[in-house]
Amino acid sequence: MQMSNTLTDSDILHYIKTEDRQEMEQLFSAARQARMPYYGNTVYVRGLIEFTNYCKNNCYYCGIRAGNKHISRYRLSMEQILNSCTLGHLLGYRTFVLQGGEDPFFTDERIVSIVAEIHRRFPDSAITLSLGERERESYERFFYAGARRYLLRHETANEIHYQRLHPAAMSLAHRKHCLFVLKDIGYQVGAGFMVGTPYQTAECLVEDLRFLEELQPAMVGIGPFIPHKETPFAQEPCGSIALSLRMIALSRLILPRALIPATTAMGTAAEDGRERALYAGANVVMPNLSPTSVRPLYALYDNKICTREEAAACRFCIEQRINTADMVLDMQRGDQALESINCSAALDQQSIRHALAAQ
Ligand code: SAM
Repeated sequence: MQMSNTLTDSDILHYIKTEDRQEMEQLFSAARQARMPYYGNTVYVRGLIEFTNYCKNNCYYCGIRAGNKHISRYRLSMEQILNSCTLGHLLGYRTFVLQGGEDPFFTDERIVSIVAEIHRRFPDSAITLSLGERERESYERFFYAGARRYLLRHETANEIHYQRLHPAAMSLAHRKHCLFVLKDIGYQVGAGFMVGTPYQTAECLVEDLRFLEELQPAMVGIGPFIPHKETPFAQEPCGSIALSLRMIALSRLILPRALIPATTAMGTAAEDGRERALYAGANVVMPNLSPTSVRPLYALYDNKICTREEAAACRFCIEQRINTADMVLDMQRGDQALESINCSAALDQQSIRHALAAQ
């Protein structure tokens, strides 16, 4: 089996389907080796601020979809957002991720003033946005205000699958277009997908990896689909953690320099899900910095973890989990590595093949 950044479709399908524990271990080990030249054992942290649970979209899988009339909606004020950043900065965070539903209240002007103020107060910190699909001009305005990273999971790279997860008003073509526009503007872009959404096939997952290969994002967010009781997919099963881990490892092999979070959904699907994600090649964690009063309301799926703990408790819980995974917390901004830490150890296809052959 060839395992390199030229993995064939049949290699990928093999790793999606294998039941052989040894092969899985080899895959995870290769992913850790692929990470090593660029990040060593470092795990970067991002302070996540979930600033609105209003959303105009109606994605069939998502708990904050517009059609869910059974949740209380909230928006954080500028002051609440800045307070979360201040607390985060005191706790050592140097990256803030502002994530929310597609909320028309947050016009470009409002986002620009929030980003500019965070940038003014915390010039040493990176600002990441995750607000969904907007026009090029909006993304440019946010960039000039100081945002440098943007998370927009493509969700699935297969057109038919996309249509089965979203209403007709939404399109995969536009979502992909946004990702390329963001990249063109100069953002470090994050794409990604859920594992185990209804109607997903192994071939869809191959397409997801091929799309990542084409886009070459700086960040890749992967986590299991978890049902939410007030969505059309309420009765669907949870995505497999084992398969999610394989997708993380395969993404690491395809994009060795990517920043890949051990997502909250991984930690929700399994108590040790985030540690296992780090073991499979992830290198980022995103503790929650939102005020505890609103956290239960940002319910994308049922039983989401970390909805009660104070920010400081989340920070130390995460540090312990990172240590358990034999990795080291790094509180710096953690931009994407442009070159390997040790050039002589730089990863190439040949060295991955040799590493695997030796196992
Ligand atoms: N509105 C922004 C966007 O569209 O990118 C950011 C918010 S959106 C809720 C963040 C991510 O949550 C989505 O990209 C999706 O992958 C994930 N998500 C939503 N519902 C989920 C579910 N039921 N299980 C797992 N992940 C889910």
